[in-house]
Amino acid sequence: MRIAVIGAGVVGVTTAFSLARRGHDVIVIERHAASAEETSRGNAGQRSYGYVYPWASPAMLKKALPWLVKADGPLKMSLPPSPWTLQFLLATWRLAKTPGLFEANKRAMLRLGAYSRQCFLDLEESLSLDFDGDHAGLIDLASDAATADGLKASTGLLDELGIDAQWLSPAQVYDYEPGLQGDAPLFGALRMAHDGTGDCQQFTRALVEQCRVRGVEFRWHTEVTSAVSDSGRVRHVTIRPATQAVAQIKGASDEQEETLEADAFVLCAGCESRTLGERLGLRLPIYPVKGYSLTAPIVDAAKAPRSTVIDDRYKVVATRLGNRLRATGFVELAEFDRNIPLSRLTTIRKAIESRFPGVADLEQAKSWTGFRPMMPDGPPAIGRARQQNLFINTGHGTFGWTLSAASAELTGQLIDGERPAVDLAAFRPLRFER
Ligand SMILES: Cc1cc2nc3c(=O)[nH]c(=O)nc-3n(C[C@H](O)[C@H](O)[C@H](O)COP(=O)(O)OP(=O)(O)OC[C@H]3O[C@@H](n4cnc5c(N)ncnc54)[C@H](O)[C@@H]3O)c2cc1C
Repeated sequence: MRIAVIGAGVVGVTTAFSLARRGHDVIVIERHAASAEETSRGNAGQRSYGYVYPWASPAMLKKALPWLVKADGPLKMSLPPSPWTLQFLLATWRLAKTPGLFEANKRAMLRLGAYSRQCFLDLEESLSLDFDGDHAGLIDLASDAATADGLKASTGLLDELGIDAQWLSPAQVYDYEPGLQGDAPLFGALRMAHDGTGDCQQFTRALVEQCRVRGVEFRWHTEVTSAVSDSGRVRHVTIRPATQAVAQIKGASDEQEETLEADAFVLCAGCESRTLGERLGLRLPIYPVKGYSLTAPIVDAAKAPRSTVIDDRYKVVATRLGNRLRATGFVELAEFDRNIPLSRLTTIRKAIESRFPGVADLEQAKSWTGFRPMMPDGPPAIGRARQQNLFINTGHGTFGWTLSAASAELTGQLIDGERPAVDLAAFRPLRFER
């Protein structure tokens, strides 16, 4: 089958690879000049299969206000909130209040996470991919007794699902992560022994090369602008040089439009899937939830985390990526505002210096901001749309790097008419249709 994939972030590229490996003839359309230039570029680097959870959570509702008002709290919102932001918040609030939904979605996401781990191990065994990848676990720190109790309570579900998680006492934490030498309070940590890490952009780019080996065609600097459907099928999409390039070629936009036909189409356009979805008659209420990262060279390996460490005080994640430290934080509702305020970076630095003093040369840190493509409930959208030949693999929110290997493989299974390896009920793309 000839299949067109829209978007070359980690989700689009893993999808393209999975489809090519299944023998399909694949073309990827990407508006940037290379893969993983948007959200897949500078994320926290966690492949946190055992630590995935839905965005719409009753616990988050309780914490939201204190987090918002605290100057260095992890939740931020531009004021006054825009109508779009309010609409998204209202939908999230309603879903978080729906009895049983959070628990059901968490189970579904954890099952998807476990399958993703399997898919990643399979990829890493069969291909030589250079991306500073590792599977050395993850720890979530508790800096007070209440957080410790909450984390201990969460192990029940993990045990039931067969996910390897252990509670570590403070002494065990220091043993496991000797670089944790700051004097910040510590009541213990939850350790997910089988979780992984890795540079998402490097991985995506390494996989692009593997796609090329399997004949995948990439059309860079090309954007999909519209689509034509009839008789329950997408006939073609319209493509043209990406807006930036069009602006440089005076008067070129209309003339340079062309149609692209394929037997099937897969929408993997991250935050832009909302707009493209509308053009395809599909309601994907994805909101761009902003976050920030710093990447700095490690100066003393003995002081660095072995893997991923989540600091509950600021919700800052410190991840080791080879000889670099990636530190990430904040959940911010500000639509597509790409500014990076100094105060956000200062908080991330403060968190790192208080847990891993002297670990990295923060003066040389590269800063980044990106947008989590968030559905109001949290689970991604994976499955067939109303059109018979349109497949959706998008809206992965906080966990797109972690879940990409699974959602790509599942998309391949659906396209080939196989029974999906994971129950996809929680991920139905049409769940927000009115
Ligand atoms: C601060 C931060 C930290 C994070 N940390 C983690 C983490 O530790 N672990 C984890 O699992 N996830 C993490 N995430 C989330 C993760 O990065 C995303 O879920 C994931 O990158 C989404 O991948 P994607 O391919 O769907 O989207 P993107 O990477 O945004 O890719 C979408 C692509 O589609 C292209 N596109 C859009 N519209 C068009 C069009 N019309 N025509 C052609 N191309 C188009 C875009 O240019 C883009 O390249 C984090 C996110 C942020 C912001």
